[in-house]
Amino acid sequence: MLRITELKLPLDHSDEQLRAAIVQRLGIADAELLDFSLFKRSYDARKKSSELLFIYTLDVSVRDEAALLAKFADDRQIGPTPDMRYQFVGHAPAELEERPLVVGFGPCGIFAGLLLAQMGFRPIILERGKEVRQRTKDTWGLWRKGVLNPESNVQFGEGGAGTFSDGKLYSQIKDPNFFGRKVLEEFVKAGAPEEILYVNKPHIGTFRLTGMVENMRAEIIALGGEVRFEQKVSDLLIEDGQLRGVQLESGEQIASRHVVLALGHSARDTMRMLHGHGVFMEAKPFSVGFRIEHPQSVIDKARLGKYAGHPKLGAADYKLVYHARNGRSVYSFCMCPGGTVVAATSEPNRVVTNGMSQYSRNERNANSGLVVGISPEQDFPGGPLAGIELQERLESLAYELGGCNYEAPAQLVGDFIAGKPSTALGSVEPSYKPGVKLQDLAAALPPFAIEAIREALPVFDKQIRGYAMHDAVLTGLETRTSSPLRITRGADLQSLNVKGLFPAGEGAGYAGGILSAGVDGIRIAEAVARDLLGLPHQA
Ligand code: FAD
Repeated sequence: MLRITELKLPLDHSDEQLRAAIVQRLGIADAELLDFSLFKRSYDARKKSSELLFIYTLDVSVRDEAALLAKFADDRQIGPTPDMRYQFVGHAPAELEERPLVVGFGPCGIFAGLLLAQMGFRPIILERGKEVRQRTKDTWGLWRKGVLNPESNVQFGEGGAGTFSDGKLYSQIKDPNFFGRKVLEEFVKAGAPEEILYVNKPHIGTFRLTGMVENMRAEIIALGGEVRFEQKVSDLLIEDGQLRGVQLESGEQIASRHVVLALGHSARDTMRMLHGHGVFMEAKPFSVGFRIEHPQSVIDKARLGKYAGHPKLGAADYKLVYHARNGRSVYSFCMCPGGTVVAATSEPNRVVTNGMSQYSRNERNANSGLVVGISPEQDFPGGPLAGIELQERLESLAYELGGCNYEAPAQLVGDFIAGKPSTALGSVEPSYKPGVKLQDLAAALPPFAIEAIREALPVFDKQIRGYAMHDAVLTGLETRTSSPLRITRGADLQSLNVKGLFPAGEGAGYAGGILSAGVDGIRIAEAVARDLLGLPHQA
């Protein structure tokens, strides 16, 4: 196969035109092109003056590949297609009795469990929350009726934190082994649209994700694994620095010398338990701020100009960064085109926001986190758990500001910039459920964060006209942008001081989204397999 990059065509081109462009680029007769597939399709909307084009990376099969490779030897846009197929590190021997445990069934635990199952290790997966259908009902219970189930909600349950999300599937991690490709291919096998394999910024949306996690669970079970719900791990069994197993809240103990800990960033009780055992962990930077909502049409127009609303482009997204005069960075986070702001707490009497959408991304508003980076050195000194304590204080404050009924505090952008409380909504209807309480958000975050966000908004308005529009709505608070701590691991991907414990995914500080958590799950499954098979660890 040959790979061609940077092939550009107008948005409304036909399949025949794409084929013709390949034939022309390679300088061959049509009959010599046997087949082709899309590897990547993107567009660059930054230059408003020029025509918007699709930019393709394609894998093509031709009659005489060697001749074409020689012909284009000096052409950096044409070369052999790299082999991105996933190779297992090994397979479990039939006599192996020990079964690895995976704690948590979010993207990281799903991929750790799936890979271990595919290699024949028959993992036992322990998830504190409920299976996805029941969990969906509980999650809607908070959004519709203001009733929170602390063990079954947006953060906890089958599928993990990303189940009720935009399902964005891109990441900036380094991925030399193409594990990201394996994640996307498994998602497609489980029911994701095939286009996630080639569009530049793929997303799935909430509705499809729920079906996909059920299919992945079914595959793990069919391969001999077990997935147990409502099984919270409440303690670790450690002897002389070696893990021997876990204890569940029910009191049941499960023995294993290999435990993947894929907890996510919201399992504060479990983090405290680990800290109590002296498991090495350290505080790490994260970000706090608000969700901001605009009409999607404002974003589409600013980003896509005359192409706004083009059916092949869908709802536009954005990514913004600003370095404020007080030294703080303000940036957009987890932007959800055509989506809704959601109540994302897992704890009673706290308010946290996040965003989600459906595959169609056709809700009226665009939303995004608008957050300020904070660090342990500057903002929360005091040990590994200090970031969790800060999050708890801010989320409790947001609950009080919202009226102590899970409504969220909110303010219009114009009033926020002017420093006066909002008293009435304008043209933008906030989507957060169960509802918002208008006021002055200046009290909700430390003064340096408010100052930095106030300064950033007019600057962002220069990049996206309308971004600082008076009626846009800020809803608070965004506190769980990433884990506030890292459970540090060594070269063998095990805890620095508890052998057999494999901290993984977002909660351990090694991922920051669905794709990167899935990739880390694969990496950790390989580390567990190597240990069980007595293979050397890879650097
Ligand atoms: P999680 O998904 O958090 O999974 C951890 C699991 O562990 C949970 O199911 C939890 O119940 C379980 N658990 C915790 N403690 C225990 C215990 N003691 N015993 C047993 N089980 C336990 N990322 C994106 O890339 N794109 C998006 O569009 C996106 N949108 C998001 C929208 C929302 C509303 C939220 C909340 C997050 C979103 N994210 C998004 C972030 C993404 O979901 C996370 O980065 C990702 O889920 C992390 O995966 P994980 O497996 O490491 O942890």
